[in-house]
Formats: sequence, structure tokens, C-alpha cells
Amino acid sequence: MAFIDELTAAQIAAGVAAGDFSATEVARAALDAVEARDGAVQAFLQVTPELTLEAAARVDAARAAGEVLPPLAGVPLAVKDNMNLVGTRTTCASRMLETYESPFTATCVQRMLDAGCLPVGKANMDEFAFGSSTESSAFFRTNNPWDLERVPGGSSGGSAAAVAAGEVTLSLGSDTGGSIRQPAALCGVVGMKPTYGTVSRYGVVAFGSSLDQVGPFGRTVEDVARAMDALCAGGRDERDSTSVDCADSFAAGLEGDIAGKRVGIIPSFMNAPGLTSEVKEAVELAAHVLQDQGAELVEVELPHLDAAIAAYYVIGPAEAFSNLARFDGVRYGYQEPGCPNLAMQTARSRAKGFGAEAKRRQMLGAYLLSSGVYDKYYYAAQKARTLIVNDYERAYEAADVLLMPASPTTAFKFGELSDPTQMYLSDLFTISINIAGNGGITVPLGVGSASGMPVAAQLVGKAFDDRNLLTFARAVERGFEATTGAAGCRVAPDFAGKGGELA
Ligand code: GLN
Repeated sequence: MAFIDELTAAQIAAGVAAGDFSATEVARAALDAVEARDGAVQAFLQVTPELTLEAAARVDAARAAGEVLPPLAGVPLAVKDNMNLVGTRTTCASRMLETYESPFTATCVQRMLDAGCLPVGKANMDEFAFGSSTESSAFFRTNNPWDLERVPGGSSGGSAAAVAAGEVTLSLGSDTGGSIRQPAALCGVVGMKPTYGTVSRYGVVAFGSSLDQVGPFGRTVEDVARAMDALCAGGRDERDSTSVDCADSFAAGLEGDIAGKRVGIIPSFMNAPGLTSEVKEAVELAAHVLQDQGAELVEVELPHLDAAIAAYYVIGPAEAFSNLARFDGVRYGYQEPGCPNLAMQTARSRAKGFGAEAKRRQMLGAYLLSSGVYDKYYYAAQKARTLIVNDYERAYEAADVLLMPASPTTAFKFGELSDPTQMYLSDLFTISINIAGNGGITVPLGVGSASGMPVAAQLVGKAFDDRNLLTFARAVERGFEATTGAAGCRVAPDFAGKGGELA
């Protein structure tokens, strides 16, 4: 007998295919784990047992008919609540969309379903994905399964926490400035933002269209690679003009040799003020285990990275302001009753429908795009963006992959970063990768000696070199396990084996 959280996606799919257990049994175990654990964690805005069991019944019927099962048959999945899935509301954790029923299913979600995943529910997030702690959800906070008094990170905090608490095996998040990689680091799971364009954004509610990218969370690098295979199966999505054909086998190259490859370390990042010593030690440990496998460490500099946060907080809000204009309280979103005219209806609906951070971002965006101001800030930010892209290109002449922290600290307490600008600064290590568009992955490395909370490192690859990135991530995972005798990623101890037994 096993608990659902002890199995990887690969093991679940293999077990279902071999008839060791049925997809329906997996579905019941996952729903049971959610029932036992989510009261404390609060990762889900909506749990969808009908959809879970329906998808499981389809898998079981296919097996009974002797069909070859899809690669993730029977794997429990959580979906961030900014992705449409028919049969669920897509609220973006906002009052504005509290009752919005998904009219269609996002391509990324559909591809996971086509691969055989069982949709367990919609995961909590920062409102419209603005934030780094999931505290800006309009509905409730999600607690870090490692310490319920601490944040799970954000904005995809629910997706990360659901995997860390062992409620699901895989989840989807979106990352505009770090929203997959930072919560993965704070919850101790693997989280990947692939290169911009790799995963279709069709059906995902837009925040910053030139920065947004969907990616998976899992408890092993292999599971994340398998999820990437599912997300990219079928190649380019005609419905997203920025989508490219990446139907590469991500899982196939995982055990590749990294001997002789160059791993770039950025000294100014390793000495950045605010980087805690336990996170620094974790990144150094990752460097050592790569070195032990024959990789060469090289120092590289990214001279314009000090402009990344400023550029992001111009480009992001500008794009968000234009994307969120559609929520006008007339055609879309919450409608304040009893308004005398349409202008008042828009004004009052937006005032009530959006929370403080969503308003702050839109006001900032409106200001930045106004005449006279635009040239000074937006144009300057775009210039900085080009310099940052060039910095990365130069770095990859000297290195095959870059190694850096994902988050400067371990999970902080609720309310601890109450000043928004302080919260913005916590994105130091993730944001430039969205600006440049390349891929990044967080690899958990156990817990920190000071805090006892998960610590992690981030690997950053060349654009469209995500397969190679996964190979390095697997090398870190493998090396960590060999060196310490422990898994870098574990289900949070208070939740492991709590409900969710597979008969
Ligand atoms: N923390 C960043 C922000 O608040 C990133 C959010 C994201 O990636 N969606 O904008």
C-alpha cells in the first residue's frame, strides 16, 4: 500500500498502465488527500471531484478497451486559476471574475488532459498574478505546507503548495516575473518557466503578454520534463501567435552527461545584499555537485541586470494596464448594480472588483503610458530590455548554463513584506529571465540550516535550450541525492501520508 504522495507522475502512469491500480483509485486517493490536507494549506480555490473522476473513468475505459494509454494517464493535476478549464470558474483570485465560468479550455490545460492527467481543481494565486506571496488573493491566503505561518510564495502559490503538500503530483503555473520559480523555491518543489513561446498562452488570462509563460511544477525533475513533453505535444498552437514548435523530447535527454560543460556563476548575484547565507550555501552546493560531475565553473557578469527590476515594473504594469482594460464591469467582470450610466458602472465596478495591488499596477501602467511620460519610462525600459538580452547572449558565449538563486530568502512570514517595493525587490533573481525570454528552473536542495525551510537553486538556460536546462537540473538533483543521501524535494513533513492512501 502506498500513499499517493509517494509516487512520481511516471510511477502513477506506469502503475495505471500495468493495472496495479486504476485511474479511479488514484483519483479517489488524490481527492482524499485534498480533503485531509487542504483545510490547513488552502491551496485550492475550487476542487472539482466530478472532473477528476470523469477523467479517471475515461482512462480506465481506454485501458479496458485495450488502448495504449497516454503518457500521464491517471496523474493528479492542479491548474492555476488564471487558466480556463471548462466546468470550472476562472477567477484569477479576483472579485472581478468571481463568477466567471470558463467558456473554453486553455491549450496548456487541454494538452495535460490529453496526456491523461486528472484535473483535481483550480489553485489559488495572487490576484491576476500580481505578487510574490499569494497574499493578494481576494479570497483567502494559501499557507506554506512547511510552516503554515509562512507564505508559499507567488503568484502561483497555490500550485506550488498543492504539490509540496502532496495533494497533487503535478500542477501548472504561470510566470511573468518569477511566479513559478519563486514559489517552487519557497515550497521546495521543482518549477520551470520554459523559454517564452514554448507553451501556448491561449486561454490563460494575460498579465504582461510579452513576459507571461506557462510552466509545470512537480516533485522531481523527471516529472517536470514529462509535463513539458505533454505541454509541447502537438507543436505550435495556431491560436497563440507567439507560440513556437518545441515538440522535443524533454524527458529523453535527462540523464545526459554534463562533463566538460561550463556553468556560469554571477559573482554580483552571489554577493547581492539580501541574499541569506543558507540560500547562498544551497547555490554553492549545487555548483559543487555539478563540478563533481565534471562541469567547469566559470564567472560571468550580466552588467545591466541592475536595471531589470526597474524595467520590469515599467513593462509589466504597462502591459497589465492594457490587458486588464477589458474588465470594465459592462462586457466583462463584476457589475456594480444601480449605477446611473455606463461610465459610473465601469468606475464603480472596477473600484470594487479589483484589490489594492491590481489597482496599484493599473494606475502605474496608466501613468507610464500617458503622453509625455511614455518616452521617458516605457521607451527607456525597452532599451534596458535590449541591453539585458545582449548581456545574456554574451554570457552564453562563456557558459552553457547559468546557476543562481531563485529567491534571496526562504519563505517569509505573512505580512512581513508589507511594503510593496520591498516585495518587488524580492524578484531580483527571476525577473531578468522574463525580460530576456529564456528558460529557468528551480531545483530544491533540502532545507536551510538556519530556518529549516526549503532552499533551492535556479538554473537559467539559453533561449530554446530548455532540454539542456532540464539535463542540468537533473544533474543537480542527482548530485544532491548522492552527496547528502536525501531527496532535494520532499513532501512537507506535516502532510506526508496524511490521507490519500492508494488501496
Ligand atoms: N512577483 C512578480 C510580480 O509581482 C511576478 C509575478 C508573476 O510572475 N506573475 O509581478
